[in-house]
Amino acid sequence: MKKGTLSVQAEHIFPIIKQFLYNDREVFLRELVANAVDATQKLKTLINKGEAKADGELKVEIEIERPKRILRVIDYGIGMSADEVERYINQMAFSSAQEFIQRYKEAADSIIGHFGLGFYSAFLVAEKVVLYTKSYREDEQGVRWECHGDTSFQMEPYDKKERGTIVELYLSDDASEFLESDKIKAILEKYCRFLPVPIYFEGKQINDKPPLWKKNPQELKEKDYKDFYKLLYPYNEPPLFWVHLNIDYPFRLQGILYFPELTRLISPEQHKIYLYVNQVFVTDDVRDILPDYLQLLHGVIDSPDIPLNVSRSMIQTDPQVRKIQGYISKKVSDRLQQLFKEDRKRYEELWDKIALFVKYAAMRDEKFYERTKNILLFKDTDNNYYVWED
Ligand code: ADP
Repeated sequence: MKKGTLSVQAEHIFPIIKQFLYNDREVFLRELVANAVDATQKLKTLINKGEAKADGELKVEIEIERPKRILRVIDYGIGMSADEVERYINQMAFSSAQEFIQRYKEAADSIIGHFGLGFYSAFLVAEKVVLYTKSYREDEQGVRWECHGDTSFQMEPYDKKERGTIVELYLSDDASEFLESDKIKAILEKYCRFLPVPIYFEGKQINDKPPLWKKNPQELKEKDYKDFYKLLYPYNEPPLFWVHLNIDYPFRLQGILYFPELTRLISPEQHKIYLYVNQVFVTDDVRDILPDYLQLLHGVIDSPDIPLNVSRSMIQTDPQVRKIQGYISKKVSDRLQQLFKEDRKRYEELWDKIALFVKYAAMRDEKFYERTKNILLFKDTDNNYYVWED
């Protein structure tokens, strides 16, 4: 058996994490499932390259053992050797937790979505964490690692049969809510419904619908987009039109933005865009990622390049965010041009519903105006529509 101490400066790290994130502590499950999915995806890559054996189902399971107050996250991914536990858990995961706290202190008015705490977020809810893991490399022994949320840990060889990792959380007294099925199910549905590896809880798969934004637009039909909208906003009228986003450079971003049927008063406070990072849900509070005149759009944005550790007050001036806003604005105006060219009649039918928004956007943003000035419509008293040129 090996015993060790994590790091001296780190003595007070767990209480601090707990205090910062008390109200958001459900994110621990997102972080652990995301790690399990990563480990599974890495294994898949190795299998495709012929470097690992393809045996057993590749899935992630979440399990509750109520009498013992245990919550488990189980994967059959690449696993870790003893050396890797030392490197990735004792050293790396720990220093990323420290870095998180540093950033958190700097960004006084909250970091978007609290993303990036990683493995150690387990201690938001657990008084003890036990990790059982076995590497996909067959000559490696299994490992058991245990930590009580202070700076010391224990590590020993463990006879684990299957490749992969089990993270076992012994929930603390104030975290009993995470023993409730409904609670766990709701958290999984919120954060994990579009993950790329099957996620099971109590025999049911949580992520049974594919994330449409990852698909090739050429292969999608109008119905696919409308059905996906219905899935995201079950109580809304069907959308008027949509824009499929996909860019790799200078930032990576995918998504689908919908122009909603405006039945109710437009409220900029409503949270209508869901932000994902690699298919993991982060937040629905992303007002500032879109230019203000596009705030009424609905839909999904998935990007690993949106700065999540920038404070709210800084995000408006962040150069990356400005680039993203510019890109989205251009895609929306391109789409309007396309609607106009492909089907003028349909565009005219749409116009009364979108006119207010398009005119406002053209007033707010000169570039948007330049891109749309030839498709702004004017209506006469007989309901005929004209562009400026006419
Ligand atoms: P991050 O995932 O951002 O790298 P974490 O603190 O969540 O940070 O995890 C640190 C590292 O520990 C990961 O990069 C990975 O190498 C390793 N790790 C964590 N969970 C697992 C797992 N379930 N299977 C294999 N490796 C894992």
